[in-house]
Amino acid sequence: MQGNGIYQLIGLAIDAAIAFWVYTDAKKRPMNAILWAIGTFLVCIVFLPLYLILRKPVGAAPGTPGGQPQPLPLPPTYTPPPPTFTPPPAQPGSPPAALPKQGKFCPSCGAPHEGTVKFCPSCGASLS
Ligand SMILES: [Zn+2]
Repeated sequence: MQGNGIYQLIGLAIDAAIAFWVYTDAKKRPMNAILWAIGTFLVCIVFLPLYLILRKPVGAAPGTPGGQPQPLPLPPTYTPPPPTFTPPPAQPGSPPAALPKQGKFCPSCGAPHEGTVKFCPSCGASLS
């Protein structure tokens, strides 16, 4: 039997070609491409028909019944909220609304205080 090896080789090449096709085809679908390719290569007669029956439509979500490819749902258009949030103006040591007219400001923390106190009522720094 001289030609037997050649035929085996040809069969192997066909198997490989089909497995390669299954691999590339399954990659476009939500399927395990490598698993199907290996299965097809090993037992082509079983896996190829199985693949053709079970293969999912391109782009369909897993679990969708096969057959008619359903129209792809539009991707959810996420629109970030407009940047309306404005941070409050930075006021270090925000002074109270009613500023003492003749008051001074603490050199340490910026809090206003009466000019008469010796220590800052806010941070306790010496004001003398
Ligand atoms: Zn202070």
